[in-house]
Amino acid sequence: MLVLAPSLPPQQILYPDFEKNGIQVFMKRDDLLHPIVSGNKWRKLKYVIEDAALNNKTHLVSFGGAYSNHLLALAAASASYGFKTTAFIRGEPVQNHMLGLCRTFGMQLHFVSRSAYLNKYQLYEDFASKNESTYFIDEGGRGVLAAKGCEEILHGTTGYTHVVCAVGTGTTLAGLTKAAAEFNMKAEGICVLKGAEDMIHEVELLVGEKATIHHQFHRGGYAKTDEELWRFIRLFAQKTGILLDQVYTAKMMMGLAMLIEQGYYPPNSRILAIHTGGLLGVLSEFGNT
Ligand SMILES: *Cc1c(COP(=O)(O)O)cnc(C)c1O
Repeated sequence: MLVLAPSLPPQQILYPDFEKNGIQVFMKRDDLLHPIVSGNKWRKLKYVIEDAALNNKTHLVSFGGAYSNHLLALAAASASYGFKTTAFIRGEPVQNHMLGLCRTFGMQLHFVSRSAYLNKYQLYEDFASKNESTYFIDEGGRGVLAAKGCEEILHGTTGYTHVVCAVGTGTTLAGLTKAAAEFNMKAEGICVLKGAEDMIHEVELLVGEKATIHHQFHRGGYAKTDEELWRFIRLFAQKTGILLDQVYTAKMMMGLAMLIEQGYYPPNSRILAIHTGGLLGVLSEFGNT
């Protein structure tokens, strides 16, 4: 069993850039749910792990890059439920703290070329034919069951007009979009990938609803950083005591600040931003700040 910290009520964020037209910004700290299985990665795994167990699968197999938050969350969560785990890692063999942590939790790692990685299903089929009771989990943990878990991010939250999250695969936004409709809120995603305009279709495939996605805040593309982004992270940490990661949550909060500044939100909006975690994967880069 994975033991999680109790979900805390959202905290108000007092940050100068957000103070406009009576708008209030709050943050739900899903990054505090668990030190390793942080934020939305647990939400995405919850029903997937349950499904694997129901189907008597004992070996979870997934995919990702060498800094995948998803793979580390999977390794740690699976260990607490007694599953074996195997991951296919895209690219040349490398070593870093994330992969070291994955191994520490018992995950077997296989590095595969970028071209082989393109055909994940073939890799999985070959592996499954030689191993017992395997269960496929897509890259980034994306999928319908994952979106269902993300709906629960909004459990027990009322009184907000908008909920905002960062968008990678779109699974978290899909869950939020579905749940927000029930809570009479509007869900919005800040996309951290460049050229991902078809993301809206991904979300629709998952939950059958049209999402609202902002595509102008990726700052050059996935994991791309610049001095202005680092400056925002430092200022935000100093004014609020909350650390953002440079790949997802900092781009979300910076995008949110810009939208507020541009007068996008109606006066007196109460905006709930989701801290989806992701701090472990990126800590090494703070060495340069
Ligand atoms: C994976 C991740 C996301 C993206 O979630 P998707 O469901 O793939 O869109 C957002 N924030 C953090 C911190 C993440 O690790």
